[in-house]
Amino acid sequence: MVDVCNIQVMKPLLEQYGFRFSKAKGQNFLIAPWVPESIAREAGVDDTAGVLEIGPGIGSLTQQLCLRAEKVCAVELDSRLKPILGQTVGEFHNLELLWGDVLKLDIPALVRERFRGLRPMACANLPYYITSPILTALLEADCFESVTVMVQKEVAQRIAAAPGTADYSAFTIFCQYYAQPRLLFDVSAHCFLPQPKVTSSVIQLQVRTSRNWNVPDEALFFRVVRAGFAMRRKKLSNGLASGFPELGKQGAADVIAACDLGENVRGETLSIPQFASIAREIAARKPR
Ligand code: SAM
Repeated sequence: MVDVCNIQVMKPLLEQYGFRFSKAKGQNFLIAPWVPESIAREAGVDDTAGVLEIGPGIGSLTQQLCLRAEKVCAVELDSRLKPILGQTVGEFHNLELLWGDVLKLDIPALVRERFRGLRPMACANLPYYITSPILTALLEADCFESVTVMVQKEVAQRIAAAPGTADYSAFTIFCQYYAQPRLLFDVSAHCFLPQPKVTSSVIQLQVRTSRNWNVPDEALFFRVVRAGFAMRRKKLSNGLASGFPELGKQGAADVIAACDLGENVRGETLSIPQFASIAREIAARKPR
């Protein structure tokens, strides 16, 4: 197996094909072998797993996934990497490479067709410029057992944040609505070529098998969440009144009181069940 994390091997390989890193495509390749090994191991990839990898690059994580999983599908945007991946992962018969933009992929269909009878997982060292859209697509696809990804450390902290902390955001609630986050480990910039300007973290999102939030209308729930964070450090009643003009100031105050929350409560302190109760209260007041 080609030792892709070894810089003495990687550099000549890239030069052989005249490959230049693309900043626009978020290309920071791993050069510390313990990182892809740990990601694959911590993700729990074994011969019962079907793994979707986003952005194989030159194949460092792909190799570790292929060594463990029954089947790996890896989707890569940059077709210049074709001949290099041919050398680094061409030997794996359980690997299917898909060329294109992961955001244009019908993920549920892929999982249904390629991972039948397997535990579907997503694993990646994500291209950081599209972290949120990719995580949104993976969670909304609602077909993975878990999603284990490397992201910027500050994004990982946002995903795992608790109510009332500075990192808690609408994106936190989105992720935690679908999954339970587990921060795994940090990865310093010198583990990549080229080095990113930030520290990275690997985080696992264990997708919830049942979401007992009592949310009859998800679109309304997420509208409430956005309204709750739209005016940080201001009273929730202001955010609700502006996000739901149909309620008016008094209606917003009534909703908050009906949910047993204090009139000065701020959106960024609320838990998912509390946002859910506000959404139910607003739904109950909608004219039929
Ligand atoms: N997995 C490799 C590693 O860990 O060394 C490379 C990770 S690099 C951070 C991100 C990879 O995602 C790059 O190979 C990049 O070309 C690819 N990529 C960027 N945007 C993409 C997209 N929209 N769809 C699929 N792959 C993408």
